Order: sequence, then C-alpha cells, then structure tokens
Amino acid sequence: MVDLHQVAKRYGALTALRDADLRIERGELLAVVGPSGSGKSTLLNIMGTLDRPTSGTLRVDGFDIGELSDRELSALRAAAIGFVFQQFHLARGVPALDIVADGLLYQGKRLSHRRQAAERALRRVGLGDRMRHRPHELSGGEQQRVAIARAVLGDPPLLMADEPTGNLDSHAGGVVMELLHELHAGGTTVVIITHDRDIAATLPREVRLRDGRIEHDGATR
Ligand code: ADP
Repeated sequence: MVDLHQVAKRYGALTALRDADLRIERGELLAVVGPSGSGKSTLLNIMGTLDRPTSGTLRVDGFDIGELSDRELSALRAAAIGFVFQQFHLARGVPALDIVADGLLYQGKRLSHRRQAAERALRRVGLGDRMRHRPHELSGGEQQRVAIARAVLGDPPLLMADEPTGNLDSHAGGVVMELLHELHAGGTTVVIITHDRDIAATLPREVRLRDGRIEHDGATR
C-alpha cells in the first residue's frame, strides 16, 4: 500500500525525516510513535502525499509519486486516502450530514448521491440518529466520528489518523479506537499516530521515530 525507500524531508537546515525505509502492506494496522518533534506528522504527511519528500522514493497504492504531477497526486489522494486529525476540522454551523456529504464534492457526484453516501457513512460510525446535528451539538467523540465518516466516505483503501484520540476523554477515545479497528477488520489499511502507549500496545505493529529516524519497526505482540 505504501513503500518508502530512503526518504528524507528537510526544512531548510532542519532534517525532519531521514533515511526512512518503510513498507506497509494492504490491510495492515499500525501505530507510529515517538516523542514530540521526532517526525511523526512529517512521515504521515509524506505517506499521505500531502507533502513531497526532499529525496528518496515513495510509492502509494502502486504509484511512484515522484512521477505524478500535482494534479495527478491530488486525484490519487482523493481516491485512495482518508485523513483524520486530532482537531476534528468540522465546518461550524453545518449539519453532520452535509459535512460528510461535502467530502465527495471534488469527485463531481450529485447532491442526492452524496447525501445517500453520507447517510451510510454516518450509520457506519454509529451516528444514524445525529445526522442533523451541528458540531456544537455533538460531543467531542461524536465530532471525531463525523470526521471519520467523512474520511471513509469514498471507501479509501488507506486511512491516516494523526492523534485521533488526542482531544478525547478515555471513553470517547475508546469508541474511536474501536471504530478504527472495525475499519481495519473491513479491509482498510490504517496508520495511527499516537503518543499513548496503551493505544500503541493494542495495535499489531509499531513504528518508532526518534530525531527523524525510524529507530524501531516491529510487531508489538
Ligand atoms: P512530531 O509529529 O513527531 O511532533 P513533526 O513531524 O511535526 O514531529 O516535526 C519534526 C521536526 O520538523 C520538528 O523539529 C518540527 O519543528 C519540524 N517541522 C515540521 N514541519 C515543519 C515545517 N513546515 N517547517 C519547518 N519545520 C518543520
């Protein structure tokens, strides 16, 4: 699904990621861990094609991203990758159904089709009875589930989550983790950045970063 070979990312004099070799097979579930500033978000942004590497090669879903134009890269990202962040990034005052439906805007689908797909996605995350609620009428955990529904609307094979439980209490965080496990069980490849040791320990594989290097990559059990 994702294959990095000797990938580096530099910001001016600072090297945020170096010598990264990483292969993620289709259908895997893994944690990316490491102290603050160790390069976790940089790695996720590169794997998610939000950022291009400074050097090295990266393949995502079979495509060598160095050979794609920015336009082709956006198309690949829209079709293949869903994102969930610590901040939920939900438009204020907009009902959950429309927030999720807007996730398909760029694929040129009709409104009725988008709404139906959004309803299915919201039911899938257990929010079938919250479709008309606006973000401020939802709990933090529910807001994150709306963000997940939006991320998986087009059934992307790859889901990237950057500290998805970082703003949630432990109960709501547990519900969100359960949902991510369910998506994985359904065949989605799921990559989760977390600083929470307990969460990382529940995932089959852990990639640990330190000072921009992958210092450990292996099975947790
Ligand atoms: P983490 O997610 O593990 O906290 P990051 O990947 O965000 O780490 O950051 C790794 C390093 O790269 C940090 O030193 C950070 O300050 C730096 N960095 C990240 N993004 C940028 C950027 N856009 N411009 C300059 N430096 C950056």
